[in-house]
Amino acid sequence: MKTKIIRGGTVVLAQTVSQQDVLIRGEAIAAVGQLGELAADEIIDAGGLLVLPGGVDTHVHFNDAFMGTVSVHDYRTGTIAAAFGGTTSVIDFANQPFGGTLLSTVDMKKEEARGKALIDWNFHPSFTDTSDRTLAEIRACVAAGAPSLKAYMTYRDEGLLVEPPDLKRVLAAVAEAGAMLLVHAEDNDLAEAGIARELAGGRTAPIYHARSKPHLVENKANETAVRLARETGGRLFIVHMTTAEGPELIAKARAAGADVWGETCTHYLIYTEAMLEREDGLKWVCSPPLRTQADVDALWPSLVSGLLSQVTSDDAAYWMEAKRFGKDRFDLIPNGMPGIEPRFHLLYSEGVAKGRLSLPRFVELVATNPAHIYGMRQKGSLLPGKDADIVLFDPTARWTMGQATSHSPCDYHAFEGLEITGRVQKVFSRGDLIVDGDELVAEPGRGRYVHCVLPERLSI
Ligand SMILES: [Zn+2]
Repeated sequence: MKTKIIRGGTVVLAQTVSQQDVLIRGEAIAAVGQLGELAADEIIDAGGLLVLPGGVDTHVHFNDAFMGTVSVHDYRTGTIAAAFGGTTSVIDFANQPFGGTLLSTVDMKKEEARGKALIDWNFHPSFTDTSDRTLAEIRACVAAGAPSLKAYMTYRDEGLLVEPPDLKRVLAAVAEAGAMLLVHAEDNDLAEAGIARELAGGRTAPIYHARSKPHLVENKANETAVRLARETGGRLFIVHMTTAEGPELIAKARAAGADVWGETCTHYLIYTEAMLEREDGLKWVCSPPLRTQADVDALWPSLVSGLLSQVTSDDAAYWMEAKRFGKDRFDLIPNGMPGIEPRFHLLYSEGVAKGRLSLPRFVELVATNPAHIYGMRQKGSLLPGKDADIVLFDPTARWTMGQATSHSPCDYHAFEGLEITGRVQKVFSRGDLIVDGDELVAEPGRGRYVHCVLPERLSI
């Protein structure tokens, strides 16, 4: 087997940050330590660079048919953008076909990824019905290596809504099958009423998207989901939490013994709803909506305290043409923005470089925790035996993020003009160099399906 040594970099391994060498044998990390003059087929000089595990982004939408359009990123373009942004594993979503089986999403996604995925991947089957027949399939999804499933508490028009009594049945079935349920938590009754209220008042600009779904819409759904998780014992993961109250609810739920976890996404840590008041505000329409500075200021400490366990991109890129469907009606703007490539850089620059996160905590939030929570057992850290998914990162580089530096085909950038500290230099996936500076040096199609196995208990 071919060997490589990454020599002399600053290695982040759990809570330890120290100068070490990393030996790669074949696809895996074989050793981390002072490897001296040990010979290898290839020596890579990492002097002055950080050596980090590749990012794990468990919330991305590829080929997603939604609100009358389809997301820009497929497995080729999405995973290329991910890799340039330091991410080496993704977990995508797959809606159960209407009237079809939940399990059919496994073959569907394998077909979508075939010949296209540059990096390793998995997906979350998402419910479009909660019949007994569907719930009986959860076990088969776990056996197929896709043990984290998703339910939407809103989006009735998209055929995704799971109402609370059904959500309870889903959580009970998830508990029974040893799976985990992700919820998109927005209270559907409140959301529908809010949208109708704004439209009836002639308030149709993008900012009214945020007004139509204020904090209460999310907080109430969070409370419902947490209550049902407690009643059933099902493991609950609340995606894209945005409000200051969200992490407090998680603290209370955990204190009461519930198996409840949560994340936020990059854009909720950086932007407020003021973006929606810009002339091009429709670019930032997403659900839940961007919030206030007070929420942003509450989310960062909850990442440090552990109430929130990870930061994902919720990459849902739509063409500007599609976003403009709703230029005169906020409720017709496809919800979501591109973010798969910016995530790792933004979290480092806004988190570590600005002193909000320690380097080890950054690594946990961007790689280690998502790999652990979702059962990507061979990913997320530089421990010997893990896949050699490694990022060499220059912590001092300064550059401007935007379309000019993007590797996504999307025709706008959600973080245009942001000044960034730190830059990915090289990316390895299972030992292969895939990104070298600004060059893609591997062929899409090499990425593999990761068979995920959830930990019995989450220890984070
Ligand atoms: Zn999403």
